[in-house]
Amino acid sequence: MLNLLLFGPPGAGKGTQALKIAEKFGLIHISTGDLLRAEVAGGTELGKAAKSLMDKGILVSDDIVVGMIDAKISSNSSVKGFIFDGFPRTLPQAKALDELLAKHNQSIDITLALEVDKEELYNRISLRGKSSGRADDQDKNTFLKRMQVYNTETAPLKDYYKNQGVLVTINGIGEIEDVFNSLCNEIIKKGNPVH
Ligand code: ADP
Repeated sequence: MLNLLLFGPPGAGKGTQALKIAEKFGLIHISTGDLLRAEVAGGTELGKAAKSLMDKGILVSDDIVVGMIDAKISSNSSVKGFIFDGFPRTLPQAKALDELLAKHNQSIDITLALEVDKEELYNRISLRGKSSGRADDQDKNTFLKRMQVYNTETAPLKDYYKNQGVLVTINGIGEIEDVFNSLCNEIIKKGNPVH
């Protein structure tokens, strides 16, 4: 199996690239942001609890997202692998993911960290806000909150994956296809265990 993790700040292009990578390598794409938005759209209890946090740019609890990931991994046995997008976002989530994968004799093969500067991130998010309808993309203060949460809670995970020897950083600025090619090169360089 090939298990990839796409890492980066809000607006780095994780969702766009994760879909393309999933298609090319035949992986299951798991985005906690998408899963949570589906709960919100479905009007579930979980969705109702998550919505106010998401709209403010605050993280949903680790238990909730880890539970969603557990269900996704368990319901997709005998697959080529997973690409995780927007998860993990905290150290407890990263540890929980390692444990969940270990139960299936799996681990993260590569963490691809997209690097984009703050100014470009804000430009992209405000552009996306015009078409996505996402409340968290439409307000500058919410963007700043998400950046702050990213910097304090999520960015430190780079060291966690660096210590595991699986971290690769990629310049996320440029044409979508160029960034995609850089990501693919790194995945293939790793030996692409998918057959
Ligand atoms: P972006 O890619 O712009 O960071 P996402 O769609 O991944 O946005 O996430 C939107 C919101 O959903 C986050 O701000 C957070 O409130 C919630 N969320 C998504 N993934 C997680 C997670 N792994 N842990 C906690 N909250 C999450």
